[in-house]
Amino acid sequence: MDAIQASERSESGDPGRSPLANRLLMQIPANRAEEFWYLGADYGAGIVVSGAQSLSAVSHHKDELAERPLMVDRRRYAGAKRPSGTMLFTRSWIETQRQMNLPVVLTDSGYVAQADRSALVAILEQTVRVGTGVTAVLPVSSSWLTDDGVKHLVGEINQHRVPVALVLEHTADPLSTQWAVAGLKHLLEQARSPVSLLCTDLSGIGALAHGAAWAAVGVTSSLRHLYPADSPGPPYGTPPAKYAIVPRLLSFMKVERILEGWAQTQQHDDLVEDLWRCACSECGNRTMDRFATCADVSLSAHNASILDDLQQQVTSPASWTSAIDGALGWYQWIEDEYHLIWEPPRFMNAWLPRSRR
Ligand SMILES: [Zn+2]
Repeated sequence: MDAIQASERSESGDPGRSPLANRLLMQIPANRAEEFWYLGADYGAGIVVSGAQSLSAVSHHKDELAERPLMVDRRRYAGAKRPSGTMLFTRSWIETQRQMNLPVVLTDSGYVAQADRSALVAILEQTVRVGTGVTAVLPVSSSWLTDDGVKHLVGEINQHRVPVALVLEHTADPLSTQWAVAGLKHLLEQARSPVSLLCTDLSGIGALAHGAAWAAVGVTSSLRHLYPADSPGPPYGTPPAKYAIVPRLLSFMKVERILEGWAQTQQHDDLVEDLWRCACSECGNRTMDRFATCADVSLSAHNASILDDLQQQVTSPASWTSAIDGALGWYQWIEDEYHLIWEPPRFMNAWLPRSRR
């Protein structure tokens, strides 16, 4: 029987049974797949190759597919002319992933706009029809995380009982508000099938700590969330801004800002350099001013290494809160010692328990 005709429901209803050895993945663009292919390979981080050409990019590495988790996200849902989720999946897209034995087969879903229940249901119903081992990609307006939205979202996911991978839409950071994080937490608690995140950023670590099956963090800003159709996002100019994670600040920070902090330590003998020195496997204790001139792949290898460390450390909601507290303490330290008022990223406050805000 044609695999795509199989009608049984997915049986992978338990996140603990996820086929992924390492639940954190790096999401890379298909048109730069060769450049980023070995990112995190040393410690088994998986990759999600993204874009229309992702299957073709992966086919060049057929012999290596067993070595680390690998997925393909077509991202048909992105861009100004994105189709609606009511559009049918492409059979060959799903069949080819199965033939390649990819650990998770991702649907090539269209977009689910605010309150567009027919698009949501169309994606979930199609996923049920294509059978076991397929995860429904749900590229949704962030409004689906409001109280009313998430109630419907949970209801439909639980009715269809298929694993889902959310892609959250926002002009900057979809998880920068308390209501959005509360909605995601509610979904992770209430969904009776695995919930994962594609195209996310540091909040992916928080989502894993709260029960997400896996999370894929984008190597570029444009792969760290979904830009609205009328706001296509970077690159605004050439070259696009570079962001590196400053481990103690738990933040993707513009390299220019890192240089600003580094410059302060060079001008004032009493300021320690440690904040800007990185002991990750890529940096080898070098200082972060190197990001101004290093290759993109070296900067991304630093980010991947820090994310891997974080994933090891953050294993529960309490340890995620503790990591945020530590970072907020360092932001305060910068204000006190450097006299620089840098606003911490908004996701930090959004993730703090309600009693703490
Ligand atoms: Zn580093």
